Amino acid sequence: MTDLVPPQVGSATVLRGYADAMINAFGTPKRVFVRGEGCQVWDADGRRYTDLLSGLAVNALGHAHPTVLAAITGQLSTLGHVSNFFATPAQVALAQRLTELAGEDARVFFTNSGSEANEAAFKITRMTGRSRIVAAEGSFHGRTMGALALTHNPKYRDPFAPLPGDVTFVPYGDADALAAAVDDTVAAVVLEPIQGENGIVVPPAGYLAAAREITARHGSLLWLDEVQTGIGRAGEWFAHSAESVTPDLITIAKGLGNGFPIGACLALGPAAGLLQPGSHGSTFGGNPVAAVAGLAVLGVIERDGLLERSRAAGDRLADALAALAHPLIAQVRGRGLLRGIVLNAPIAAAVSDAALDAGFVINAPRPDVLRLAPPLIISDAELDGFVAALPGLLDAHEAAA
Ligand code: PMP
Repeated sequence: MTDLVPPQVGSATVLRGYADAMINAFGTPKRVFVRGEGCQVWDADGRRYTDLLSGLAVNALGHAHPTVLAAITGQLSTLGHVSNFFATPAQVALAQRLTELAGEDARVFFTNSGSEANEAAFKITRMTGRSRIVAAEGSFHGRTMGALALTHNPKYRDPFAPLPGDVTFVPYGDADALAAAVDDTVAAVVLEPIQGENGIVVPPAGYLAAAREITARHGSLLWLDEVQTGIGRAGEWFAHSAESVTPDLITIAKGLGNGFPIGACLALGPAAGLLQPGSHGSTFGGNPVAAVAGLAVLGVIERDGLLERSRAAGDRLADALAALAHPLIAQVRGRGLLRGIVLNAPIAAAVSDAALDAGFVINAPRPDVLRLAPPLIISDAELDGFVAALPGLLDAHEAAA
């Protein structure tokens, strides 16, 4: 049995193997992690870190959460997988819970990731009989070919042209530009309620409501990509609830499974009838183990009041960061426990590395933005530890520059 588990070796050994054997998105990994508990993670050399990134907005309940553990081990030892020719109670219960949260007679298509949820939504938009899609500058919707076609960053797109679809990009947050781009040929407008990968960009109040009004006027679908912002991350089940908007399509993933691969495309109202059984499929989507992880996450968020906690802890964090009044901090933006610290200089990658050396996992989605997306269970003391360390990290960089 011990032969079947990876050896417990130091970071250097793992990284050599990584370099030889793996092709991955971001080059050489900065750390090798071997264990997590709550909001703390440990690397292969025994160093401990406070996780302020949650596997990129994934571990809403932190690491090794007892309720998630009990759910997945219970399901694994009962039934690990069946084909999608058949149903499981776990899958149906999760679909029912998600449709309750989304409302409007929603129906669910399960996937394994955010990109795949967006691929499903993309196919649904084609069922309108139209093909044009309006997306936003600065958008990120994933790296598979369809999702990439909706992702604005040329660095990701250009090597893979030609991309599918007929996509127009408009400035994010500008309702007039959106109104000018949408006409009766547009199948859908796709937007992130807060742009995550673009550096936690919050659109002006009323933007999503304007997008709803514009799309309704032209018979176009409003598709909100909540892959990063949903499931409590921005303080609500769905970030768009803050504007009381009802979209036609919602895509989610990341926080839903607490690290187990599950995503979903929710189709609401008349859009729920667009995808017919058999017109799209996935072998693993809705796997019962991932589905019970999702049920556990939704149940614990509700039981432990973690939406309120996300809002309160996020506001408190933003206030504490602003109170530092550090000359390198230009702005703190975001909602709930999705926060961007905008710096006055393009030093975010270096500060993020320094934070890691100091025992804090964060990242830099842009050269001038640090991202914080901690587990929703994070304590005030853990957040305060980072706030207390940040001036030193910024000052050290300034002294070195
Ligand atoms: N949409 C958004 C808004 C995202 O932030 C991401 C991931 N960063 C994705 C889609 C893609 O999700 P995944 O990596 O699970 O395919």
